[in-house]
Amino acid sequence: MKNVLQLESITKWLPTANKPIIISGPCSAETEDQTIATAKQLAATGKVNALRAGIWKPRTRPGQYEGAGEEGLKWLIQAKKETGLPVTTEVANAAHVEACLKAGVDILWVGARTTVNPFSVQEVADSLKGVDIPVMVKNPINPDLELWIGALERLNKAGITKLAAIHRGFSSFEKGPFRNAPMWDMAIELKTRIPDIDIICDPSHISGNRELISFISQKALDLDMAGLMIESHIDPDAAWSDAKQQVTPAVLAKIIDGLVVRTVSSDNKTFKDTLSILREQIDQLDDEIMSKMAARMKISEKIGQYKKENGVTILQVARWEEIIQTRITLGKAMGLNAEFTSDLLKLIHQESIQIQTKVMNKIEERV
Ligand code: PEP
Ligand code: MN
Repeated sequence: MKNVLQLESITKWLPTANKPIIISGPCSAETEDQTIATAKQLAATGKVNALRAGIWKPRTRPGQYEGAGEEGLKWLIQAKKETGLPVTTEVANAAHVEACLKAGVDILWVGARTTVNPFSVQEVADSLKGVDIPVMVKNPINPDLELWIGALERLNKAGITKLAAIHRGFSSFEKGPFRNAPMWDMAIELKTRIPDIDIICDPSHISGNRELISFISQKALDLDMAGLMIESHIDPDAAWSDAKQQVTPAVLAKIIDGLVVRTVSSDNKTFKDTLSILREQIDQLDDEIMSKMAARMKISEKIGQYKKENGVTILQVARWEEIIQTRITLGKAMGLNAEFTSDLLKLIHQESIQIQTKVMNKIEERV
């Protein structure tokens, strides 16, 4: 199901000659000097389209730096005056919005910890009624696409059409290589549900460390995201928040230079012809996979019937283990990733159990 939102493309409200759009600046505005010096160095790279800095910082534990507050807004506006860069900061409630509008902030963003809370999002949306300011909405910290869409809808209903989404990854109990798991499928699904939404990737909060920023940025561009929000600081190691993931403006420039920007399509005739031949082959193979899958499920149904007549349980762990082992070995020999083969088999096995359950007990339940 597609969601219909009235949206204006980011290229209209953050006009830039370059693609991708780059938003950069410190995690937090710490002092006037740090904010302005970072902004100047960023502007000097000629690669940055907007300056970011957190003024009110949502910290997990008390006692950490919670932002400069309204005082910091003055630094941000001064940085804008000195560099000409539009400025953006995070808002979490009506008072933040009011202070930003009064100060002349160009773009607002809703943070991950606010997107999870419909009361807060609604408060921000209500305080923006009748105001024509762009708002970017970070994904909620938990992987709940509906909350992300819901926040965009609340703002859109309040009349905000200059909307974008920011993909900053999702909190997860299992600690992987990232601070926040990217779960790219969530961003892809958002774009599928709201095709007109521009998505900015925030590789800094996904990575949690500066080494992975290039890798995540390239992946985001290859998924056709509109831009990147990357944290930068004149002295990253001394930053008062998110020190490990910030880079100097000079490093930022190098990261951007190293990115390969690919287009979503090409007018080249040979490219188009070759792609369509390859896609036909994929279509053909998908047809074959689907019909083989249907045939496999029909056999599962027969097995279910046979087990029922003989009073045998659906699951035989030894058989299941044997399937997993033999298929993974086979898949590996064919160049398939073991994890992929295992995930695929689990899915097929679940459906097979489901079909046999139906045959045995005449009930339908999704496991
Ligand atoms: C930030 O941008 O510094 C921030 C607090 O991000 P998030 O809401 O993604 O955690
Ligand atoms: Mn941060």
